[in-house]
Formats: sequence, structure tokens, C-alpha cells
Amino acid sequence: MRVVYSSKHTLHDPEQVIRGGVPGSNWERPARAVLIRDALAQDTRFTLEAPTEHGVQPIESVHARGLIAFLEEAWLVWREATGKSEMFPDTIMHAGLRDGMSQAVPEPRTPIGRLGYWGFDTSTPILPGTYEAARSAVDVALTACDLVLSGDAVSYGLCRPPGHHAAHRTFGGFCFFNNAAIATDYLARRSGERVAVLDVDYHHGNGTQQIFWRRGDVRYVSIHADPARAYPYFLGHAGETGEGDGAGENLNIPLRAGATDADYLEATDRAIEAIGGAPGSIVVVSLGFDTYGLDPIGDFALTTSVYHEVGRRVAALGRRLVILQEGGYHRPSLGENARAWLRGAEGRPFEPLPAAGFTEQGTVV
Ligand SMILES: [Zn+2]
Repeated sequence: MRVVYSSKHTLHDPEQVIRGGVPGSNWERPARAVLIRDALAQDTRFTLEAPTEHGVQPIESVHARGLIAFLEEAWLVWREATGKSEMFPDTIMHAGLRDGMSQAVPEPRTPIGRLGYWGFDTSTPILPGTYEAARSAVDVALTACDLVLSGDAVSYGLCRPPGHHAAHRTFGGFCFFNNAAIATDYLARRSGERVAVLDVDYHHGNGTQQIFWRRGDVRYVSIHADPARAYPYFLGHAGETGEGDGAGENLNIPLRAGATDADYLEATDRAIEAIGGAPGSIVVVSLGFDTYGLDPIGDFALTTSVYHEVGRRVAALGRRLVILQEGGYHRPSLGENARAWLRGAEGRPFEPLPAAGFTEQGTVV
């Protein structure tokens, strides 16, 4: 399997989030992608490739131009205005502020106002290298698409920062551009086929759902923590099934806290059945490992072996797979979990590495 990876992700290295009103450590650090890359590099059947540049047009096909422009210039404007290091909003444009009003909201002029206009949470600071890293993650995803469009049965884009929380005109949840949605739109246009997205991150991919909510050419299927208790809180309920041309094309499978391997495989079978019921030959997988039992953010109880089985079952659909990395924050297990899933997707046995006992490794960059 070809693995697309760019070291440009290291340009985005956030230290903080504001969680529950207090500053805390940011889990979405460069070590995540480095550990996955290193684990795959030890397995001779994975080959690493650099992405090719695809320009901004595929991003404009999915995201508002104002959002792209803001992310490109945000850091410079912020530094000039404040000189501070990491950029967080303080006033976010809640829909309820404008209940009953139909006028468009003008974008504020100050950096902090603009941040609350385009961003929706306090988990996603902007730094000097954020835009370049986010653009590179999109190129990684699109290059993985190119591999499949040119004949590979499966490819893996080691995207970082992740993407599935970013919607058409808002970013958040560690995500800036929605790599999976941009890839899906690109694949649908290039292939002329319907495309399915299978999102197996712990969190609901609210951005991907929003982007394709009214589209009939993309089926979005997500298995995730029930939003009644987990981020992103406001989207991901089972009753959300799409509208307009997209009616019936959105399937959410929320799971309880403590969900086991057996629970997850049952949900996987439902998801696969839903994807198999729609035409098309390509599936984009939003792959997260924050479903792992030791993940510091998630509350599921999955083990490494279930990732191999999920990968195997998804591949058994017989469709081409573009697999793109989303979340996963338990660093010691990330490499093995990725190897397990991807080997399953290739129909290979898992074969854990001899040195794979997990040790808390601290920050490895
Ligand atoms: Zn996640």
C-alpha cells in the first residue's frame, strides 16, 4: 500500500487548548503522525510517498472563500494586532444571537472578531505554520485519491491536521480544511460516480455531514460517540438523515460510553451494509484511533485487534479505498493500530511487531 506523507504537518504544533474554561495541553501534536509514519516504515509492504500540490481550487469547491482567505492571513493579522503566540476566539457566532433575523452577518474587522466568525470552538488555535500545514494535509488527501484513480485498490493519506470537523464555512475540532470532504468531492467529480464516506473516528464528522447534507452523490456513514455526551455535541444524532437531494444519504450510528469490540463490529456491519446499498466503486474512510480503549479523549473500549477486523470487513466490500487519517491521541498505540487497520484493508494478517509492547513514550517529535 502506498502511504502519502508530508513533513509539513510539523509546522502546526499547537501547545494549548482551552477546555472547560481552563488552558490545557493540546493532544493534536506532530508526534501523532510521526509515530504512525515510523510504524509503517518498519513494514516493508508500505511505501511512503510525498504529496503533489493540487492548488486551492479543490478546497474552494468545498469551503467558503472567506474561510480560506481568513486562514491564510489570520496569523499575520493576529501577530500585528496582538503579538500573542496562539490564536483563540473569545466570542463565537452562536446561531441564537440572530434568531428571527434574515440579514447576512458582516465579517468583523478585528482579528479576534474574525476568529469568532469563522471558528466554532477553543480547541483549534492558529499558529504561524497552520495554513501551510493544513494545505499540505489537503495535498496528502488528494494525492491519495490520485493513486486510487490511477489504479491502486487502496491508498492511505497520513493527513495532519485532521479535517472532519471543518464545515463549509467554519473550522474547529483540531481541523481547518476538511481533507476527507475535499477528497470525496474531488473523487466524485473525477470519476463521475457516487462516492461513499465511512467515518470511524470516535467523534462525529459534523463537517463532512454538513458539506454533503443536501447532496445526492455522496453517502455519509459515521460510527461515533453519542453527541448527547461527546464532542461535537450538536450533530451526530441518529435522526439526522440528510435533506433535499441528500435525503436518506446520511447515516449516523451513535454508540454508548464503554462500547466494546463486539459493539463496534455490529455497528461496522450496519455501516458497511448502508454503503453497499448505494452505487459507486470508491469509499473514503475517515480513520480515527480515538476509539481505542486507552485514548485520553475517547471513552470506547476498543482493542488493536478489532482495527484489523474492521479494516478487513471494509475491504471485503470490494470497493476502492482512500483511507485518510483523522484523530487518535494515545501515542504509544497509534502506530500499531494504524498498521493493524491498514493490513486488514489489504487482506493481510496483522502480525504484531515483536517490539510492540506499549510504553508511555512522552513527546516524540
Ligand atoms: Zn476524533
